[in-house]
Amino acid sequence: MKKFIIPFIAIVITSCGNSTKPTESQDKTFDVFKEAFVEELWKNNPEWASYNGYYKYDSVLSVPDDNYRKAQLSFSSVWLDLLKKFDVKLLSSSNKTDYLMIENQLKSNEFYINEFKSYEWNPSNYNLGETFAKMINEQYAPLDERLKNLYKRLQKVDAYYAAAKTNIKQPTIVHTTLAISQNRGAAEVFGAAVIDSIDKSGLTAQEKVDLKTAVEEAKEAVLGYSDWLEKDILPTLNEQTARSFRLGKELFTKKFDYEITSSYSADQIYNKALEHKKNLHSEMAKLTKQLWPKYFKDKIMPTDSLLAIKEMIGVLSLKHVHRDSFQFAIEKQIPELTAFVKDKDLLYLDPSKPLVVRVEPAYMQGVAGASISSPGPYEKNANTYYNVGPLTGYSPEAAESYLREYNHYMLQILNIHEAIPGHYAQLVYSNQSPSIIKSILGNGAMVEGWAVYTERMMLEEGYGNNEPEMWLIYYKWNLRATCNTILDYSIHTANMSEEDAMKLMVNEGFQQEKEAANKWKRANLTQVQLCSYFTGYREIYDFREEVKMQQGDNFKLKAFHEKFLSYGSAPVKYIRELMLEDLKEGSQLAN
Ligand code: ZN
Ligand code: ZN
Repeated sequence: MKKFIIPFIAIVITSCGNSTKPTESQDKTFDVFKEAFVEELWKNNPEWASYNGYYKYDSVLSVPDDNYRKAQLSFSSVWLDLLKKFDVKLLSSSNKTDYLMIENQLKSNEFYINEFKSYEWNPSNYNLGETFAKMINEQYAPLDERLKNLYKRLQKVDAYYAAAKTNIKQPTIVHTTLAISQNRGAAEVFGAAVIDSIDKSGLTAQEKVDLKTAVEEAKEAVLGYSDWLEKDILPTLNEQTARSFRLGKELFTKKFDYEITSSYSADQIYNKALEHKKNLHSEMAKLTKQLWPKYFKDKIMPTDSLLAIKEMIGVLSLKHVHRDSFQFAIEKQIPELTAFVKDKDLLYLDPSKPLVVRVEPAYMQGVAGASISSPGPYEKNANTYYNVGPLTGYSPEAAESYLREYNHYMLQILNIHEAIPGHYAQLVYSNQSPSIIKSILGNGAMVEGWAVYTERMMLEEGYGNNEPEMWLIYYKWNLRATCNTILDYSIHTANMSEEDAMKLMVNEGFQQEKEAANKWKRANLTQVQLCSYFTGYREIYDFREEVKMQQGDNFKLKAFHEKFLSYGSAPVKYIRELMLEDLKEGSQLAN
């Protein structure tokens, strides 16, 4: 077993005095501590390191056996002990959040190994596709260097899958099925492209032969694992013998606390989502009634308000751009959103960090849509891209359905969410308060919550001229995040059936059957993540209202936003605590 204690750290920590005010020396010591922590974190998680753009351990592959888990637990206990030597009260705001995030990470590491134990029941945990694809396809280092590291990493592939087979006990059917297809896909990573790269490289003839053999053996190991799951494991699984994909209340609640790190419990957030759905329906019914005569003239409105809303949404969705101008429409909107944020004084946007809209690169394509690619923690000055999935491969029917979903109104909300002032703007701020901890351990609920929060905030500030059409489509979009939470919680803690889940999404969430069916699958395979959008949104919105109440006439939206974002991608719960403290200490929300 490895030893993790670094004498240097221990010396520095014990030598700092006990003062009562935040001291520069405590912060300096903590900065040293963080650096050492991150280095050890990477040493213990080489694949995670490579994923984040830290390539020092590129030749190492972890074998997920008992020793590995013991080492992981020892890592957590050693660093938790070291952490205790700091007095969190004496640290700066930024270091306080880093402290709490490190602590949460170490404790959740223990939870995942000791209690969650997905290494026993989720065969799709074992997948080397991404790790190896990056080494083969991304030119972050010279080809020869990447191939030499690839060769070393490949030596452990057999041991990796042997450990996987030993670990698996009573898996779920859905995760076993997923693992079979994913590993089949991962085997393709060891196809013609890598052989081509080996031929083109500067390796010696012998090295080339050895590497090609190792690649072939790795491919067999990946396929062997897939075959083993398909022939030896899957046939033995049925409702009695397999583990249920439903997590159960205890594990769900704990996972929610570790992953979301919210001031609300899973129960509370579920109840808030139910209440929010009711409010959204009532607002949507009002708007539908108001809009009905404009769009339907003589046709009588259905008395069932959910049916009426559905028809209204259907008509509004017909207003959309042509498939050929989808990307252009997005590009054109970015400066318009920027101008609105400026005019209304909502948030300072750094003009030196422009967002680049591009066609989604081929290796990311598959599901059309839009996403933000941000530079990793080790390449801060790289561009941020807004990837737009092209509709080129779509049949006329599929394109029409997609364009109706991302209609004239929805496309604007999507751009607010992904770009300005949503994800992209938040990223620029989080890069300004550079903390490697927040980059690596960034809180998903805060990041998604911010993007969801800005949609509503923009509309409240008059974006879209308060058109009822815009609000109605916005509510439909917001309903999706709300239903995601209800779904996730109900499936994992309350046995919600597929039929009830579909009814919720289609009848009450106004989703297409196909979209809803995909969501059901996703909610079977994942837990808690689907709660992050609504939870983060609820927390940020409620917190803003709290500060507004406190400050009365002195409240300024821009100042609130900038202060909030200045803490980086930390859990909203921590930001709230720190910000309330900072505000109490008299530092007004200055403009
Ligand atoms: Zn159309
Ligand atoms: Zn998002």
